[in-house]
Amino acid sequence: MADLYRLLPEEMEQLVIDMGYPRYRADQILLPLYYKFPKDINDIPQLPKKLREELTEAGYTIGSAKEVHRVVSNNGDVTKLLLDLTDENSVETVLMQYAPSKIGGHPRSTICVSTQIGCAMGCVFCATGQMGFETNLKAEHIVSQVIHFADILQQQGEHVTNLVFMGMGEPMANYDEMIRAVRILTHDRGFGLGQRHITISTIGITSGIDKLAEENLQVGLAISLHSPNNELRKKLVPTATPNSVEEIIEAGRRYYKKTGRRVTFEYALMAGINDSSEIAEELSILLKGNGSHVNLIPINPTAGDFKSPTQDNVDEFERILSDAGVNCTVRVEKGTEISAACGQLRTDIVG
Ligand code: SAH
Ligand code: SF4
Repeated sequence: MADLYRLLPEEMEQLVIDMGYPRYRADQILLPLYYKFPKDINDIPQLPKKLREELTEAGYTIGSAKEVHRVVSNNGDVTKLLLDLTDENSVETVLMQYAPSKIGGHPRSTICVSTQIGCAMGCVFCATGQMGFETNLKAEHIVSQVIHFADILQQQGEHVTNLVFMGMGEPMANYDEMIRAVRILTHDRGFGLGQRHITISTIGITSGIDKLAEENLQVGLAISLHSPNNELRKKLVPTATPNSVEEIIEAGRRYYKKTGRRVTFEYALMAGINDSSEIAEELSILLKGNGSHVNLIPINPTAGDFKSPTQDNVDEFERILSDAGVNCTVRVEKGTEISAACGQLRTDIVG
């Protein structure tokens, strides 16, 4: 079985040519795939019946994600889906809708996609990490998550504006499939999303960061740091050893130099663990002057007993960084009551 959502537009062209059809037939497949979201090859009536039959006979299918569960937050701005993929794996994907701010601007619809089922990195505060690793998702399964929400949004007269690779899994540990999905989703004959509207979040696999810098893509990079020193980081991210804090910061610098895109450091704040004034000072010394941005994420509840700091502690941590000239924001979490916020995604418990 081959999913048409796996193919880059150039590969789609090659496919129709190899089947003995003119090149323009590829666009007759691509346009509906990315604008009408058909569920079946026969839902593309503009394609000759014979070509539809030949594609089906050759084992081609369309879109493999089936919605098995949907939860919506109380105010309706966060939707979490459990999607079933062909090989009997389920994955969680989240849509966050932001109304235009009072000072204007456009509504935003951000999709948080998963790249793996479970995760091998084992971060102690993350529900996905606590599940362990199950499998890597194929590019078409990453694309399908976006297409599924694009379809839902289209019915509301809206569209996908942003994409964050912050769902289940470590994107750099599934690099080739992740990049294939990014290329399809940003290709102007594919889904056509602007590269700058995509952010890839990594636990800090430096070889992946360097590879991404060479892709000639304008995607944003977020690095989950969580600690300014290796001793504490190792307790929070047990598999961190191959990449030290210093090496991660250096890789971030190289990414910025190569792409011109500022790097965001994500920092999940845990009461009594990594939220003291001393640690804030240490972090500010580490990041001062390299133009990076820190996104503080007061920890969301998971099965572990990590607690979110008090608002005063969060404010103090932010103040220390800002006073040192480090650009800093606090992430406003959405969807915690439906376990759809950062670090809360897992698929062994539905709900
Ligand atoms: N594996 C990648 C991307 C997925 S996690 C990474 O770790 O960056 C996306 C973000 O959610 C990361 O910044 C991660 O640190 C954060 N996160 C994980 N568990 C969390 C929790 N319980 N509360 C708040 N943020 C959490
Ligand atoms: Fe994996 Fe990211 Fe969760 Fe760590 S925080 S276990 S890297 S998904």
